[in-house]
This record gives sequence, structure tokens and C-alpha cells, in this order.
Amino acid sequence: MVPRLRLLGTGTPTPLLYRAGASFLIECGDDRLLFDCGPGAVRRLLEVGVAPTEVTHLFLTHLHYDHCNDYPYLVLTRWDQGAGRIPDLAVYGPRGVARMTRLLFDETGVWGPDLEGRTQHGSSQAIYQRRGGVLPRQRPQPLVTEVQDGASVPGTNWQVTVAETRHCQPHLHSVAYRLNAAGGSVVYSGDTAPTSRLTELAQGADVLLHMCHFINGEEVDPRMTAACSGHLDAARTAQEAGVRTLVLVHLTEQVLAPGLRERMCAEAAAVFDGTIVVGEDRLAVPISPASPAPAR
Ligand SMILES: [Zn+2]
Repeated sequence: MVPRLRLLGTGTPTPLLYRAGASFLIECGDDRLLFDCGPGAVRRLLEVGVAPTEVTHLFLTHLHYDHCNDYPYLVLTRWDQGAGRIPDLAVYGPRGVARMTRLLFDETGVWGPDLEGRTQHGSSQAIYQRRGGVLPRQRPQPLVTEVQDGASVPGTNWQVTVAETRHCQPHLHSVAYRLNAAGGSVVYSGDTAPTSRLTELAQGADVLLHMCHFINGEEVDPRMTAACSGHLDAARTAQEAGVRTLVLVHLTEQVLAPGLRERMCAEAAAVFDGTIVVGEDRLAVPISPASPAPAR
């Protein structure tokens, strides 16, 4: 079965109406896997016809807010609408995800009073029971697994592997993911400077979603190039890894400048032989040549 890929959020920390924070949806059989959950991701899910309750797995690349701000919103709305009838969300991410989850959802956490009210107050219990829930109401308990370089997560008909990337260490840990399924493979770089681990992870992949935060060659602070990638970095990694399609994501408003997008693609195409896609929110990207477009 060919997995289906939908770009939900292709933006950066800069708030833009047309680019939500980083988030990508892969539908694989009955599973709906979300990679990152930046600001606006949940609304984008609704826009492409997927309810938060349908999301089964979340993979976070790192804990910068442009990649995980909608994590609590996804967990809470999924829990609330799911009314005890769906499993808790399976969450994977680098070190720090368990702490964040605790600080959000534990009794003394950020959402402690809300969760106490929704599990204990009669008005919330009435809504919960009307949705099919059975008392006593349990709190959300995301099933968190912290992953590191070399880890492998087996699914029913897919497998996700993990490589460490180069971003904001030692302050934040960051990883990239590769999803393999019988019908194709997708790699998502997260945020990273060029690194051999990502090139290795992406070997022969059908699709590489790669950060493109700036235009290489223009004046870029070396502190930035040590942690992030530009269009030529992405193209070189795609070429060295031999991927079929490169999707540029994590794009700033710079891409709107007249002619910039064309120049970016032309320069990347001089380095990378495959197909280049400039990411846009809600865009469905075929994973293999025979891949059907998502029905929605
Ligand atoms: Zn970012």
C-alpha cells in the first residue's frame, strides 16, 4: 500500500497566514502519522479533512515551538472529542519530550486545572457521556517514547527510523525521521545544518522533505549556517542521497520576492537531478510515480 503525504505546515517561527508551523501528515493504511505539530497544524488537519481523533502517531523532530506548539492542542482536542473511545496518542521525539508532556498534562501541569474540571465537573461529564464516554473519565496520557540516533519504531505496515541532526545542541536535541512502507519512503529532515547522518538516512528515499531556511550564497550569519540549511544544502543532500523528489519546506516570506522562487529552483536543479517541489501548506505530494493523490 502506498502511503499518502500531505504538507500541513511549511513555515518557520515567523507567523504567516499562508504557512503554518512545521507539520506533515502521512496516511498509511489505517494509521495517520503526524511529523511535527507546529502552530496551526491542527487547523490545517481539519482543512484537509482529517479529524484530530484520527491521528494515531506523532513524531516530533525537536522542541522549538514552531515544531511543537500545537502538541498540547492535538492531545487535548483528540482526548476531548475521542471521549475515551480511542487509544492515547503515541508520541515519539528526542530527549525532552517526556518532560514537556509531564509539565503539560500532569496534575500539577499547565493543563492540570482544565483536566481536573473536565474529568470531575458534572457539566463536562455530561458532555463526555453524550459523546459516548463512560465514567470515571480518565486524563489524557500520551504514550511517550524518547528516541535517539539509530532508533527504529515499528508500525503495523510501516517502520520509522531515526537519525540525529545538527541544530541547537547542546540546548535542544533534534532528530530526522524516515518512514518506510511497502509502497514508498519519506524522509523529513526537521531543522538541521548539512550532516552525513541525514544523508545516510535519506539514501534512496522516494521523497525528502528538507528545511530551506535561507538562500545559500547570500549574506548569512555563520551561526545560522551551523544550525540550519539553505536551498543548495538541501539540494546537495538530496543528490548525495539519491532521492527521487526533494520538497523544500521551512520557508520564510523571502520566497515571495519576485523571481526568488524561480532562482531557488533553478540553482537547486543545477545540483540535484530529481524533482524539486516548493512546499505549500495543504499540498499533496505523490510518494511514488504510481502514487494516487489523496482522496480529500
Ligand atoms: Zn524550525
